[in-house]
Amino acid sequence: MTTKRKHSPADPHRVLADLRILYGHQKWTQRRKPLDELIYTVLSQHTSDANTDRTFASLKSRFPAWRTVQNASPEEVAEAIKLGGLSRVKAPRIRAILDAIEADRGDLDLGFLERIPMTEARGWLTALPGVGPKTAACVLLFSFGLPAMPVDTHVHRVSKRLGFIAEKLSADKAHPIIESLVDPNDVYQFHINLIEHGRKVCHARRAACATCILNEICPSSTTNAASPAVSPANRPLTDAPKKRSI
Ligand code: SF4
Repeated sequence: MTTKRKHSPADPHRVLADLRILYGHQKWTQRRKPLDELIYTVLSQHTSDANTDRTFASLKSRFPAWRTVQNASPEEVAEAIKLGGLSRVKAPRIRAILDAIEADRGDLDLGFLERIPMTEARGWLTALPGVGPKTAACVLLFSFGLPAMPVDTHVHRVSKRLGFIAEKLSADKAHPIIESLVDPNDVYQFHINLIEHGRKVCHARRAACATCILNEICPSSTTNAASPAVSPANRPLTDAPKKRSI
């Protein structure tokens, strides 16, 4: 008889299957066109999804064609995206991205990314000013349906707790590791359901381990008597009341 090691990382295929039961099968459909997705992801940095939606809508309403952003002053672009915060950083970054695309390609069409190997497409995107692995993965996954895994705060946290990655590994460096855990056809599914789980159950604080579908295989589960192989800083808190000092 084999005994499960309590500190082993969770089996990613089991996690994938369990989360699919819980949150359903996610069918890929294109979320936005590639350049829209790229600019949307730049706008999403350090702000909420709802705020990003409003900011993107404001930018598109002021500048319906991306070429017009290139002809606008940084102040005009910053004004159009001020809702999302950090507008004085993001406005010149958006402009620099558009200019770099045009300088390299002669136009603003990113359709070619689908026709080259994914590693090359990722390398091309991350060579753009201010574009990191997460932004590149968002474009590849959401616009082209390619098996790139964006590691946002939820995917990063849940992956650490499940033991998929080392605790101190940065989100940027975690991309290729988490991406390789499942079949390429399941990367989209895995991404969406890990986020869902991070939002609904495995919260940054007060993770609901007692009711979590993964608590028997998760090395960080607070329902496990043995202390998990995760440092206290990264371990979810329990809802046990704190002792009062008298
Ligand atoms: S909620 Fe608890 S058991 Fe579930 S994945 Fe998060 S840390 Fe693990």
